Amino acid sequence: MSAKKNVPAPKATKVAKEATELSCSDCQPRNCYRRDSKSPAFCLSEANQAGAAETKALYSGRSLDARVARAAAEVEAEYYGRLTRLEETLVFALKMGAKKLGVASCVGLLDESNIYAKAARSAGLEVKTAVCKVGSVDKCEIGLPDHLKLTPGVQESCCNPVLQAKILCDWGADINISIGLCVGHDYLFTKHSKVPAITLAVKDRVLGHNPLAAIYTSKFYYKRILDFKSLPKSRFEK
Ligand code: SF4
Repeated sequence: MSAKKNVPAPKATKVAKEATELSCSDCQPRNCYRRDSKSPAFCLSEANQAGAAETKALYSGRSLDARVARAAAEVEAEYYGRLTRLEETLVFALKMGAKKLGVASCVGLLDESNIYAKAARSAGLEVKTAVCKVGSVDKCEIGLPDHLKLTPGVQESCCNPVLQAKILCDWGADINISIGLCVGHDYLFTKHSKVPAITLAVKDRVLGHNPLAAIYTSKFYYKRILDFKSLPKSRFEK
């Protein structure tokens, strides 16, 4: 081995490399939470103090964003570790002064949404649910080829998160709750909801709507998530 190869990289270069490649998920001290240790060189808090000041002003004002930020923090403070997420959504809605709760539900989770509606009504909230297939627009009508349907040759309505948002907002929802919307459709619903859109559950057809189970089991059963090449192939791939 040549002497040149044994020379350690200059410290400045190492720091610069860290600063560009590492971020919060690589951080061990997590000093931003308690400020009781030392932040790493790549610390996003240290590098974004101007942004922190701007958001501090935003959250301490009287806007909707400020009210949401404080109501969420109050729910955490008052009920930390004692309420389920479902219950937290109801307490949050009441803190926000909501009277009407819109529910954007996956068609495969309508029974769960029915129970959620009962829970919300028991808290004195009015509830209206709009299912993802609302409008009944066939997938072919939005440009998908028929062979991409789960069952080709028959009506198969596309998810319509924009219409879900419109119906719920036109009804006068103060807050919308999404239950099991697909990856991507959840973005469209959130984008088009004119009132705060809160997620109760995300869709995971394989893991019982608990996507983190793939991470919790990634040391053994779901090792494949750490190697993208080992994912199952598309059913259309030869
Ligand atoms: S903001 Fe800084 S201290 Fe906090 S997790 Fe990110 S890198 Fe670590």
